[in-house]
Amino acid sequence: MNPSASTEDWVARSLRAVWHPCTQMKHHERLPLVAVARGAGAWLYDRDGHRYLDAISSWWVNLFGHANPRINAALKTQLDTLEHAMLAGCTHEPAVELAERLGALTDHTLGHAFFASDGASAVEIALKMSFHTWRNRGFDEKREFVCVANSYHGETIGALGVTDVALFKDAYDPLIRHAHVVASPDARHAQPGENAQDVARRALDSVRVLFEARSTKIAALIVEPLVQCAAGMAMHDASYIAGLRALCDQYGVHLIADEIAVGCGRTGTFFACEQAQVWPDFLCLSKGISGGYLPLSIVLSRDEIYAAFYDDDTARGFLHSHSYTGNPLACRAALATLDLFASDDVLATNARKSATLRAALAPLGEHPQVRNLRQCGTIFAFDAALDDPNAAKTFSRRFFEHALQRELLLRPIGTTVYLMPPYILDDSELDLLATRTRETFDATLKETR
Ligand SMILES: *Cc1c(COP(=O)(O)O)cnc(C)c1O
Repeated sequence: MNPSASTEDWVARSLRAVWHPCTQMKHHERLPLVAVARGAGAWLYDRDGHRYLDAISSWWVNLFGHANPRINAALKTQLDTLEHAMLAGCTHEPAVELAERLGALTDHTLGHAFFASDGASAVEIALKMSFHTWRNRGFDEKREFVCVANSYHGETIGALGVTDVALFKDAYDPLIRHAHVVASPDARHAQPGENAQDVARRALDSVRVLFEARSTKIAALIVEPLVQCAAGMAMHDASYIAGLRALCDQYGVHLIADEIAVGCGRTGTFFACEQAQVWPDFLCLSKGISGGYLPLSIVLSRDEIYAAFYDDDTARGFLHSHSYTGNPLACRAALATLDLFASDDVLATNARKSATLRAALAPLGEHPQVRNLRQCGTIFAFDAALDDPNAAKTFSRRFFEHALQRELLLRPIGTTVYLMPPYILDDSELDLLATRTRETFDATLKETR
């Protein structure tokens, strides 16, 4: 069999046996699947030796490249030491060290780490912990949640309750216990003469109105600080997060920061909340925390939350668990990731790389069909202005194909093109990314004319 025939065979077998995520499988009758054979640095290589720059960090998880030698070495040692042990009744070094180091990164404000395996579970854990904290304190009636318009917090049935993306939610509507939805602080909503802070202030007003009326029934508000990623990289001013903190304190509502996508340096600081100079009551981490290696999520919480469960009565404890809670391999990958942050001055390097990429992308701002070219930390995005609604419907898939032809792995969200690359691109890779993003965009537009 020649190599290309064998790749086609793998793809055909995948389409028969593997149900791919977030995918209408029928679209693959014409859309290619990339048969990834290996990864090295920012690049993925297919079975035929073609390479693709992983410009979206494989769904926002990969921070320091594929097959990173330092993370690999840490995992190999861990593998020969302890692959897994249950975390109820037992403990192990990687879980303890990771919990302590994350707590220290929050100035010891969020010193209690609860482990799970994916982002949606972390969100559900934070919701359950919030409700149960209030219940243990005698506030049984606080059982409602608040989310922000266009928010995304995962796709399990509980997490969909605080998610506001119609595409993921509508089909399951009858199964869902809905949260209150408050106005989005998306800076693109600025009226003439307004800036991002004004939009944030207006959005906070809608929270105040809701809290004024119902705070005795509300347990928590959940927010993606600085960037609502799945909504299409909707960015807001940090004053919104500071304002939420103040309102939550004033009305006795927990603040849950979902930093699953924006944590671990994505927005320029290790935690996005740092830019608002506030800490939430719960902070959810996943995606980048294991460097993109292994499924891991963590909910960090404050002493007061922990204390509300500490009792002789078993039922007042937090009895939630997952089979792989605190998996040592995943924790080790996370520790190796934190080591890279500590030893390589990653945040400062990222700021320089982002400035380079921003300059290279700047001419796109003059493109007649580009709107809202924007950036937060290592996240870059722009919206395609398309007149034909049918072109808008297929834009993302067509862009993906044109990008692959130019050695880029990019999957727009609707008509929003975004870049969320690993932190390790060198100057020539940054230049290639900017140049070919533009070429891909023009090729996609040309096809629709
Ligand atoms: C990805 C994501 C989640 C869900 O994480 P999964 O691991 O996919 O369940 C939740 N919140 C945000 C902000 C995310 O980006």
